[in-house]
Amino acid sequence: MSGDAPSGTSQGDVTPATSPVERYDDGVIALDTLTGGMHTVTAGFLLTAPRPALIECGPARSIRNVIAGLQALGFAPDDLAYVVLTHIHLDHAGGAGDLARAFPNATVVVSDVGAPHLHEPERLNASSERVYGPLYDRVYGACTPIERERMLGVVDGDRLDLGGGRELELLYTPGHAKHHVGVHDSETGAIFSGDSVGVKLPGMTHIRPATPPADFHLEAALASLARYRERAPSRVYLAHYGPVDPPDEALAEAEERLRLWAATAESAYRHAIAGGPTGTELDHVAETLRHRFATEFEPEHVADDPDAERRIELLSGYTSNAAGLLRYFQRRDAGTLTPVG
Ligand SMILES: [Zn+2]
Repeated sequence: MSGDAPSGTSQGDVTPATSPVERYDDGVIALDTLTGGMHTVTAGFLLTAPRPALIECGPARSIRNVIAGLQALGFAPDDLAYVVLTHIHLDHAGGAGDLARAFPNATVVVSDVGAPHLHEPERLNASSERVYGPLYDRVYGACTPIERERMLGVVDGDRLDLGGGRELELLYTPGHAKHHVGVHDSETGAIFSGDSVGVKLPGMTHIRPATPPADFHLEAALASLARYRERAPSRVYLAHYGPVDPPDEALAEAEERLRLWAATAESAYRHAIAGGPTGTELDHVAETLRHRFATEFEPEHVADDPDAERRIELLSGYTSNAAGLLRYFQRRDAGTLTPVG
């Protein structure tokens, strides 16, 4: 989940379009959800099989793009078997209710902790509206309820049979969110990591950690990265956006960046509570992160694509990340953190 308002007032064109498609060499197909009317912000990954699965669907506001994209690929209403959600943040899962209605045979697969929030999404929508502010309506939109019988709540190690010998294994990988699951594909050996590895949009030089409220947990996030590394995946697909290669180096970088990001935030936090006026901790941590990690884009890319920095601020902005870390430090100091494992 994010929260920082990008600079400027325009959120781009949210007129329905057809999701552009990118085919990777392992057969995975990315549908660009065109979240907020912007390119390459959030992907849905389509795995073709006797029982096809779409991993992530993006927010409700842009779900018509994804539906049109699937139709353009030849999907009839009965053809989609699974919509797999790594977690219930609206930029991943918000469109699932509308997508399930467009594809009435599809089962929505989500962690058993997340499923009740999609069946009765009022609380999820209300808390998202608080976090996103005006962007809630323009970029995300309300998640519509999903009937219980349309959902499969999963736990760690559950498997989905896509047919033809292809299976997806769901890996409980908390940290970014406590209900997060990663997806391991038996056919390609790839892992679809949702937000648990971080985000890296086109033109970025590094993976940026995604440490938002309400339940970011550092040790859990590091344990989840270690779990992916044990799998030695053939590739890691980020929801924001696409594959990071080579996968072992990407996972090592994600860990290193997360440790550095959290340590930078923690020293800013300690400094703020030791000496600064109360109530300024969030601004101080966010500004410190912004200063320390200011150059995360290739300069040529920003010159070609002035919206690049706006997109990352929309998705995983400094203030949102600082707020998640602050809450984590405060809970740790108060002894109210849930232990890992
Ligand atoms: Zn998220």
